[in-house]
Parts: sequence; C-alpha cells; structure tokens
Amino acid sequence: MSQQERTEGDLRNTGLSLKHDRTWDYELDRIVDAVEERGAEKVGLQFPEGLKRRGPAVTDDLREALPDDVRVMMSGKPCYGACDLDTYLMRRTDVFVHFGHSPMKESEKIIYVPLFSNVDVTPIMQEALDELDGDDVGLVTTAQHMNKFEEMRTWLEERGYTVHTRRGDDRLTHEGQVLGCNYASADIDADQVLYVGGGKFHPLGLAMEHPEKNVVIADPVNNSISIADQEQFMKQRYASVHKAMDAEKWGVIFCTKIGQGRWEQANEIVENNDNAYLITMDEVTPDRLRNFDMDAFVNTGCPRITTDDGPRFHKPMLTPGEYEIAVGNKPLDELEFDTFHGTW
Ligand code: SF4
Repeated sequence: MSQQERTEGDLRNTGLSLKHDRTWDYELDRIVDAVEERGAEKVGLQFPEGLKRRGPAVTDDLREALPDDVRVMMSGKPCYGACDLDTYLMRRTDVFVHFGHSPMKESEKIIYVPLFSNVDVTPIMQEALDELDGDDVGLVTTAQHMNKFEEMRTWLEERGYTVHTRRGDDRLTHEGQVLGCNYASADIDADQVLYVGGGKFHPLGLAMEHPEKNVVIADPVNNSISIADQEQFMKQRYASVHKAMDAEKWGVIFCTKIGQGRWEQANEIVENNDNAYLITMDEVTPDRLRNFDMDAFVNTGCPRITTDDGPRFHKPMLTPGEYEIAVGNKPLDELEFDTFHGTW
C-alpha cells in the first residue's frame, strides 16, 4: 500500500458507511506537485464530515513530504458537498484541497480529490438484475463510484440491457452523476433507474424528483438491494405544507455557503410578501432558528435540509415551491422535489 492510500473512513452524508474497510487515495503526490509548482506557503485541507478523523494523518503525511516552511491547515467547518467550500480558509491559503466530492466549479486555487471507492460493484449489480423489469434501464451513481461508471455500463450492456445515461447540468461534473439536490442525469427515456452506490440518501432524492420511475438501489458498500420508497417523505412534505398554510410571519432563509445561495428566489419571496423576512445564515440548524418569532420558514439553501431534517425544526420548513403552495399561489398537486441548478 502506498503512502497515499489509507484504509477506513466514511462519508456519512453521501451515504457511505464503515461496513467494511476500504482504501482511499488521497492523491498526496498531486497536492505536493501543486504546492511546489505554485511556490505555495499555505495549504488548506477540507474534509467531509465522515473523513475529518483522517485529517491529522493526511496532514502529517503532507508535512513530511513538503518543505518545513509550508503550513498545512484543516477546515473545521461542517462540509456536506462541493457546494460547501470553506471560503474563509480558501482565501487565506495558496492551495486549497477539497476532499470527497467532484468539482462543482473548477478554480485554479482548488484541488478536488474525489476519493473514489474501490468497492467491487458487479456482485451487487448481479443481484439487482432480479428487480429490473424489461431491457431499458437508466444508470446513475455518485462521485465516489464514478471511477467504475463505464464498467457498470459495459457490464449491463453485455447482459443485453439498453443503458440510458446523460450528463446533467453544470452542477454535475460527470455523465450519470447525481447529487442530493440534482438528478438531471436521470432525465432519461427509461421507466426504471439503477442507482449503484452507497446509502439511500441519493436514491431517495431521485425517487422524489422522478416519482414516475422505479428506482432500484444496488448498494455495494452495505451489500444490499432495495427499491427507493419516497412515500414517507412525501407524506411529511404534504403535512408540512398543510401546517404552514396558516402561517403569517415567514422567515426566508438565504444560505451564504458558496454553492447554496439562491438570492433572486429568496428576494422575490420577500418582495411579494410583507410578512416575510430575509434571514442569512451558513449552517441552517433548528437551534439557530428557534429564537426567531416566525410561524414558518422557507429554505432557499440546500433542499435536503428541508426534506430530510425538516421535522427537526420547531416550525414548518418548506422549499420555495412548497411555499408557493402554502400561500395559495399554486395548487397542492404541483408539489415536487426542490432541485438545485447552477453553481455560483
Ligand atoms: S446543496 Fe446539493 S450538493 Fe450541496 S449539500 Fe445540499 S444536496 Fe449536497
């Protein structure tokens, strides 16, 4: 095993877990080369939540490989996606390394290290075939398994499937890649989609975004097959919208994270509703909103805070589309998943 490769670690928020050890490639050589090329003096490292525990060891390895006068710093801010760069640290370092996600937007300063999983995907795909109906199938995965995407496609084609894939919008780097807030890569001409990847976070979003498609989950990390069932989520969404229908005072959240800001959308709501108040914040948590005297909130930041964490807030938390329904601008049957497009 090379110095750059380490075992263990998980990316809880992208659905990967520690069911078994795996090897991550931190691409230290690439980082060292960039530091030397740029004559960098300060290097910033940002890890997703599940890999922060590996931060000190990666820092040690880099310190060993770099000249003594190069300072290596870690971001302690929470990080849930490539939308969530630590801009404070980024501005104060010469090289900024973001681990665990594929680029949402390229920049000379940032080195994205995707941390591909080396888990074998074909055994679980073999089991998933029992759940497929007919020969047309869409194929999607997450950044962690993108290194195996062509292998997945070929494997299915060799078994007689017509595999439908597409590259989503500019929020997504790769063909077939999904994010928790963007499933444009699943806008394909097939009634079923095979999701190959860890956890249920992404396929549940996919099923909410495309309720007309059967989403089969082949999870090579937890070695399980299931069908994404969005019903529970949708019930919660309807319940929140109903509760918010009586609201008078609305808190409209504008998220200041670099890739989560929807300024126009947030402002439009405030401009058209005298009882709406704009609240700016980075982490959107129940504690931070508790002291505001509001009847309901609209979150224009990460849609998954609304759908997945919504019940934890003391007042109904809606997506911008759900807000339009709650205030009577749209009918209830137009309720749909909140997709996030664009970058920054
Ligand atoms: S905005 Fe999208 S990419 Fe960012 S944390 Fe939320 S789901 Fe993930």
